[in-house]
Amino acid sequence: MNSGNQTSKSHILSSNMSTRQLFAEVVFNIPLNKIFHYNIPHNLGELLIPGMRVKVPFGNKIITGFCVGITDKPSGYKTKDIIGILDIFPLADETMLRITKWISSYYCCGWGEAMHAVIPPIVRNNPKEKKYTFVKTSGCLSVSEKETILQSKKRATKQAKVLELLFNQESNTEINAKELMRRAGCAMSVLRRLEQENLILLKEKSVDALNMPEECSKPRQHLTLSGEQQAAFEAIKQKLTEPVQGVILLHGITGSGKTELYLQTIAKLLEQGKKTIFLVPEISLTSQTIGRIKERFNNVAVLHSHLQGAFHYSQWKDIKEGRVDVVVGARSSIFAPLKNVGLIILDEEHENTYKQENSPRYNARDIATLRAKYENAMVLLGTATPSLESYYEVEKGNYTKLVLSKRIGALQLPPVEIVDMLEEVRKKRGYHIVSQRLEYYMKQALSRNEQVILFLNRRGFAPYIHCKRCGFVLKCRRCDIPLTFHKNLNITMCHYCHSEALPPESCPDCLAGSVNYRGFGTEKIEDEIAKKFPEYKILRMDSDSMRSHGSHEKALKAFEQGEFRILLGTQMIAKGLDFPNVTLVGIISADTMLNLPDFRSGERTFQLISQVAGRTGRGHRGGRVIVQSFNPKHYCITYAAAHDYEGFAKKELEYRKPLNYPPFGKLARIIFRGVSEKNTEEKAMVIGNALKEIAKESDKQLEILGPSPAPVTRINNQFRWHLLLKAKDHQRIHDALQCVSDMLKPTKGVQSLVDVDPYMML
Ligand code: ADP
Ligand code: ZN
Repeated sequence: MNSGNQTSKSHILSSNMSTRQLFAEVVFNIPLNKIFHYNIPHNLGELLIPGMRVKVPFGNKIITGFCVGITDKPSGYKTKDIIGILDIFPLADETMLRITKWISSYYCCGWGEAMHAVIPPIVRNNPKEKKYTFVKTSGCLSVSEKETILQSKKRATKQAKVLELLFNQESNTEINAKELMRRAGCAMSVLRRLEQENLILLKEKSVDALNMPEECSKPRQHLTLSGEQQAAFEAIKQKLTEPVQGVILLHGITGSGKTELYLQTIAKLLEQGKKTIFLVPEISLTSQTIGRIKERFNNVAVLHSHLQGAFHYSQWKDIKEGRVDVVVGARSSIFAPLKNVGLIILDEEHENTYKQENSPRYNARDIATLRAKYENAMVLLGTATPSLESYYEVEKGNYTKLVLSKRIGALQLPPVEIVDMLEEVRKKRGYHIVSQRLEYYMKQALSRNEQVILFLNRRGFAPYIHCKRCGFVLKCRRCDIPLTFHKNLNITMCHYCHSEALPPESCPDCLAGSVNYRGFGTEKIEDEIAKKFPEYKILRMDSDSMRSHGSHEKALKAFEQGEFRILLGTQMIAKGLDFPNVTLVGIISADTMLNLPDFRSGERTFQLISQVAGRTGRGHRGGRVIVQSFNPKHYCITYAAAHDYEGFAKKELEYRKPLNYPPFGKLARIIFRGVSEKNTEEKAMVIGNALKEIAKESDKQLEILGPSPAPVTRINNQFRWHLLLKAKDHQRIHDALQCVSDMLKPTKGVQSLVDVDPYMML
């Protein structure tokens, strides 16, 4: 790429060299890391800037590509003309071009694929300007006036409902007509009638007008920092004065006030005219944190994946044109077109959700450090359980570590009690999901009017359906995965391809036996708890019960207000929640993760127990955690119970070091998948052998594990094989992948997917 080409190009043009032929470097959204050259016709010469999209001939088609550079050096091939330019301003700036180029090289994907992923679909689709209708009441009415109007509408129930919704708002703000009609369950005609009667006003607005920064309400004051927070804040401010700010790992236990520190750091940067990108693991699960950011600052943009088209577009433009100070969002917000970025925060930096699981398979944590380097910004990684990667960077002296070791307000971390479920089985004869200890503490907490959180990392009723007679286990027809029984929906479901079917009456294999449901998921716990504690309302939160948009917020609000006494859920409830009245957390099974064939399973188990345990003891009533496990002596569980992160990290690193697993070594995984089992295996073998040849020459610097069938051997009717490349540094892996890159192209219906720094091993 010809860097600095925006200025050099105008220079070339103005210095009487406009006759000189310029070429555009163009990349496409294909899994091929190659740049194509096109002539820039003279009439387009001044209009084209790298970062714009162009229409070009490709083979015998006309397709869209991204211009990533402009050069005057001919490629040596015969080049065709660009047909047209699609944008009036670049969708990606210089930094984003550098980042996407890096992604394509590091993660072995096309540069165009990276560009495609970085620019939101809505921006690529150039939405037309849309008008929205807004509704407000026609004037400020007193309570009695409102009453009178509502009385007069007693018979017109839909009209009454609309008015009621409008009257019940805090101030006389406008509501989007669509939203209002949805809530009132009425049609536009109802609004028109009310308009004719002068009871409401309808107004049309374009999205741009709609999106003007809201009238500034006065932001809430900062809290006075605790001693520990203040010390960390001083260190951050000191770093800000240094020429290169680098990465800070903020290791603070749950409830130690990390969020307050983020907020004050954002404010500090704003004083200097610098802006912040704030990444959270998942938007819908972090409403409490987002709420706190929004009440502290004006001009906050929250990027949801379900934002409405035109609104999303205008928000993107607001960010690009400098009307936004803080961008909050999940992983892909690391690409937000924010200018003048001074700070990038990753809350819960250890979370897997920062890694994208389809191409480009980037990790937002790594992109954050890269972007910060390019833009001279600071990265703040916050967590109670640092990823071992970040921990190791601190050990090596690459990151600065700051510690918050105490909870705010002298609150204590809750005591954690491990219940040995084998012992429990022996004692109670037969298997019980809720141990006596857990039941005892539940009774205590509930009788004291307190709240309880129960955690189980498995949804549905039962994860196995088997025949009582022949033992056959029902599996998905398309995947090599046992079916889960979902009782409320009365279906069987495959958690991989999401196919659903009616539960069988009898065994589909021997046709004679009846089926039995084994194991347990959240639905079964719900049943069991409801039987044991019929007088208390239970809120179940998992991806079955929380299907509709906004249901999380509603559910959590209800729990906060005490409408439910027991909250039961999957990892959906593990993070960020802060409810002082929760005095007991029960982890129904700490083993669900531990047994997965993945070198990170121990780390995940530790993180999960620590996170879930952190949901309690947040008020003055204290708290307690019960962890149920069949491996009560496992170090991941015992260290988590002792709140001993350092102990855990040291032990875990001891295991990984001789095996050269991350963070010591680097990994890449290749997944082969195809409809034909034979072809899939063959391709895996061919590439495996080629890589092993390369490994032989590497003087043990590169190791190839596999190829072998993947732990899940079939998904969606495609067979799966995989292999791992392991090396001391990334370059070795990169070079080896380069050597076989031609072989990785799809053949005989088998695809090879490269995953650099993989997080999924199934
Ligand atoms: P973390 O993000 O580390 O889990 P939080 O930032 O959520 O911790 O802080 C825990 C609680 O303590 C929150 O209710 C927060 O409002 C409160 N808090 C944080 N810092 C202060 C402070 N300096 N003074 C008073 N309360 C604080
Ligand atoms: Zn399936």
